[in-house]
Amino acid sequence: MRKPFIAPLTLLMLSLLLACGQPVAVMAAARRQTNYEFVNGRWFDSRKFVARKFYTVGGRLTSSKPARVDSVIDLAGKFIVPPFGEAHNHNVEWNGEEGFARTKRMYLEAGVFYVKNPNNLPRARAPLLARINIPTSIDVVFANGGLTATGGHPLGVVRRNLERGGMTQADAEGAFYFTIDNPMDLARKWAAIEAGRPDFIKTYLQYSEEYAKRKNDDSYIDWRALDPALLPAIVRRAHRAGLRVSTHVETATDVHNALVAGVDEINHMPGFRPEKGDWAKYQDSSRYKISETDARLAARKHVVVVTTLVSAIDRALEKKEGEAGVSDAVRELLVHNLQTLRKHNVRVAIGSDSYRQTSQVEALNLHRLKVFDNLTLLKMWCETTAWTIFPKRKIGHLREGYEASFLVLSADPLQDFTNVRKIDMRVKQGEILSLEK
Ligand SMILES: [Zn+2]
Repeated sequence: MRKPFIAPLTLLMLSLLLACGQPVAVMAAARRQTNYEFVNGRWFDSRKFVARKFYTVGGRLTSSKPARVDSVIDLAGKFIVPPFGEAHNHNVEWNGEEGFARTKRMYLEAGVFYVKNPNNLPRARAPLLARINIPTSIDVVFANGGLTATGGHPLGVVRRNLERGGMTQADAEGAFYFTIDNPMDLARKWAAIEAGRPDFIKTYLQYSEEYAKRKNDDSYIDWRALDPALLPAIVRRAHRAGLRVSTHVETATDVHNALVAGVDEINHMPGFRPEKGDWAKYQDSSRYKISETDARLAARKHVVVVTTLVSAIDRALEKKEGEAGVSDAVRELLVHNLQTLRKHNVRVAIGSDSYRQTSQVEALNLHRLKVFDNLTLLKMWCETTAWTIFPKRKIGHLREGYEASFLVLSADPLQDFTNVRKIDMRVKQGEILSLEK
């Protein structure tokens, strides 16, 4: 029974030996990158488009001419922007070679190079590691299993998958989620959470103003989550481990509890989905309205709020016969929350949480809602979103020494935001991407 393990072990030792010796240097030399000179482009400088020249050397942007220029590319007056990001989507997961190729292509086509997956099965991440975070693919970070209470969200997702055969019991506790009901649970399970090497920690708050009322009531299964009193201790542990914390919210009280606990990112805007799917509940929307005080607190703490409003905006702008009142109530709530965040300069990132799509649909829907002007939207999508996915990388700006990753648009997105779809060329870490079928 032990024999089959010898071969992979020998391979591992061999690759470790190779990694320490000369063969690596030989490989690097064989993969020498092309140095490009990009002329006649108009480059986004965070405020406007500026005619200038850039070179790409070693995967970075520079304005100094390198000793060797391998190729000159004429951008013909087009508009260069940093790549877009998707701050909330669960669709980057292993679903076979073809499935992943389709997902990758969908993102690269939309110009979305950076993706954050805020709750995934560890086994759906492992096979991806060799296929992502390389110049020719998308760059992705994963939370692994989220932290919630017994019977809390995302248990509903797991139950549906158990019924359909998409998951087994081994994918539940300790894989897709960790239940933390008290400080002992946290102390006992933290080692396993960290051992899974998450890129960040995902936590859940859900109607936390009714935590006590909901925690033992079966009618609230999947519509409850962590005891908000436990969140500060989770945040402290995560920060000690160098991990940022994202928190799922549903109500304004959840937002408040997340902020005082010290989380780094709030996922969803209150109003993104009504309780148990009933949009009419937003006709009394007071419990979903973010307060001025909390918006100020979020700004002061540099907390990022991730939108995920695709379907809520669809609902708000829908003109259903006899249901205009519901649409208007949803619209009023969304506009109130977004305006409150804008007024206090809270960092807003674009995430769709839309499994079959990318953040492109979220960005275009936010544009339809008309709360943000084109410049603000573009900066949210290119800068804030990239930052909240990879806060330590030099991405999101077209500046000296930053990663040579950008999109060439055939028309000006500041004039018409929908021009973000007109992508003529994609460059990632100094490589021109070709999206062959
Ligand atoms: Zn989600």
